[in-house]
Amino acid sequence: MIEIAGLTKRFGPITAVAGIDLNVDKGEVLGFLGPNGAGKSTTMKMVAGFLAPDGGYARICGHDIETDTLAAQRRIGYLPEGAPAYPDMTPRQFLKFIAQVRGFDGAAAKSAIGDAVGKTELDPVLDQPIDTLSKGFKRRVGLAQAILHDPPVLIMDEPTDGLDPNQKHAVRRLIQGMAREKAIVISTHLLEEVEAVCTRAVIIDRGRIVADGTPAQLLARSRHHNAVTIVLPSGQAAAVAAKLKGLPEVAGVEQSTSNGSAAVTAYPKGGALLIEDVSAMAAREHWDVKELYAEAGRLDEVFRAVTTHDAAWARESRT
Ligand code: ATP
Repeated sequence: MIEIAGLTKRFGPITAVAGIDLNVDKGEVLGFLGPNGAGKSTTMKMVAGFLAPDGGYARICGHDIETDTLAAQRRIGYLPEGAPAYPDMTPRQFLKFIAQVRGFDGAAAKSAIGDAVGKTELDPVLDQPIDTLSKGFKRRVGLAQAILHDPPVLIMDEPTDGLDPNQKHAVRRLIQGMAREKAIVISTHLLEEVEAVCTRAVIIDRGRIVADGTPAQLLARSRHHNAVTIVLPSGQAAAVAAKLKGLPEVAGVEQSTSNGSAAVTAYPKGGALLIEDVSAMAAREHWDVKELYAEAGRLDEVFRAVTTHDAAWARESRT
């Protein structure tokens, strides 16, 4: 439903997007991640037809966004960064205006607005000027305009930015509820959001894709994937660490202590499953185990490993 090939954008000397190739199918919720300035918003603006690319193309349900703009935009719901709207209008007036622009009138407009208002729970503020709304409600007005025409493709730039935890949860549920019938792209800085709603994650850095996979595939690239941690009295940590090192699938062991307890973590070779061997050893050796758990992996670790953020930050702080 979304086909992107060689998409490129330059701003003077800066190449914000450096040749992105990406296809998104119906049923996918793609999390678009990357450090600040990586090119996420610029890519989304080009895909939604708000910015002309310098190279490459984006097609929405087969319609080129540059040469067949109206047909492509009819099929897109777009929530821009910050969710701009007309501040003097109320949500009711704004959504009526959007419905008109989208070609709805009469009963069809009423029903489309009613659906969008219901899904984004805007009822309590429908007649209050948008300017006076809280950040969360402003964002929901933006969401309502994006979904009003029930588009097959949704492009949302940080849809849960500025929402409180309850509202974040509600918006994630809304996205999941729409996912089966649509192709959805969301940019986010919240890695837990990717695990909560995305079927696929793409990480970009300096305008290029540096990772693309399901959240589970990305987690499998983390050093903590299948790592097993045992918490026990600190006096036993050294002996436990030595024993764990002897297990054939263990690549390394690390320990840390706090308040008389030690956490001993065994890292697997090549992502091997350690939990059974480690639990069997703990039982056999009668270790005084307080906690024992395995990890799926850490997305933030993978994010740091594939992006240059830390290197750039370190360079900047040295100069
Ligand atoms: P963030 O996570 O901070 O929102 P992003 O990944 O969305 O960042 P973009 O906003 O796409 O990044 O910006 C990519 C690069 O392009 C940055 O270096 C930014 O300063 C630059 N850029 C974006 N828009 C413009 C513009 N209109 N004029 C000049 N440079 C721009």
